[in-house]
Amino acid sequence: MTQHPDLSDVAALTRKLVGFDTINPPGREADAMRYCAGLLESIGFACRMVPHGPERCSLIAQRGPEGGLAFSGHLDTVPLGRAPWTRPPHGGEIEGDRLYGRGSSDMKGGIAAFLVAAARSTSATGTGVILTVGEETGCDGARWLAEAGELPKVDALVVGESTDNQPLAGHKGALWLKLIAEGRTAHGATPELGINAIAALSPTLARLCAYQPETLHPQMGRATCNLGTLHAGININSVPDLCELTVDLRSVEGVSHAELTAAVASCCDADVRIETLLDLPAVWTDPSDPWFARAAETARAVTGREVSLACATYFTDASTLKPALGAPPVMILGPGSMDQPHGTDEYVRLSRLAEAVEIYAALIASAG
Ligand SMILES: [Zn+2]
Repeated sequence: MTQHPDLSDVAALTRKLVGFDTINPPGREADAMRYCAGLLESIGFACRMVPHGPERCSLIAQRGPEGGLAFSGHLDTVPLGRAPWTRPPHGGEIEGDRLYGRGSSDMKGGIAAFLVAAARSTSATGTGVILTVGEETGCDGARWLAEAGELPKVDALVVGESTDNQPLAGHKGALWLKLIAEGRTAHGATPELGINAIAALSPTLARLCAYQPETLHPQMGRATCNLGTLHAGININSVPDLCELTVDLRSVEGVSHAELTAAVASCCDADVRIETLLDLPAVWTDPSDPWFARAAETARAVTGREVSLACATYFTDASTLKPALGAPPVMILGPGSMDQPHGTDEYVRLSRLAEAVEIYAALIASAG
């Protein structure tokens, strides 16, 4: 098969991917996924589509021997938001160094750059591409792949999320919990006939206000706990029979989510129930890991910018993919601007796209 012509120009390919409406919900990533599979097959990748229901599927592609370097990206985007756009959100308009469109930074530009780099590469080492759906709603697609046992073992993983091509060594984990106290409703004039759910949750709330996790990681910072929402009661003249508190814990390497859940549980009275809403572990690779150190040097050599090795503020599919892929070292590096994802008039810089192609091509060449 001859190489697909769209693989010769990273800006044109980014425009093409931005042109697919994959706003999630509902996602509908299947057309974009099939298009990427066609491109990858034209450069020697064996592609496997994993269906997730109507118009949704993931793509697992491999060229060369099993293992090696894998790249992951998500094809869904967030909605457009309330503010009007000054450019067509799926038009991929180019002005100066900017290519505009929903998903241009987060993260169709990164996917386009990796596919163009893979097309340029003549490396015989193993190269994998994992394209997911549903990342923006809590890494659903990656979780579905991991649960189905569909993922291969790889030697290193690059996640192409927006980092301005800075190599990042990880991100905090997210553990979202809902604490629920139930009571019995009654007329507000006869509270003695009911059981007040606000009163039932209050001692727990007071203890949680004073709780902060103790774990401190030298590069990732501190694990944190934020009380996000508190809902109770229907009206002023009834005894509330339900009180719900949501808690947003951000974890670092060195503390497990089981430990954090246990710490929150120890603040709770016996009649307070805990539900887990989201459970994405922290991702961290020691920057002295031989592959990571080499890859970071590659990025620095291409961009000429010093490497900060910071931690991303957002979470990524790597939370779920890393354990399922055999716990390889992970680098988060992509051409998107860190201040662009989810914004109105989202754009990616053409110069960053070109840089990312160079970096990814060098990483493919030096893998194995
Ligand atoms: Zn993203």
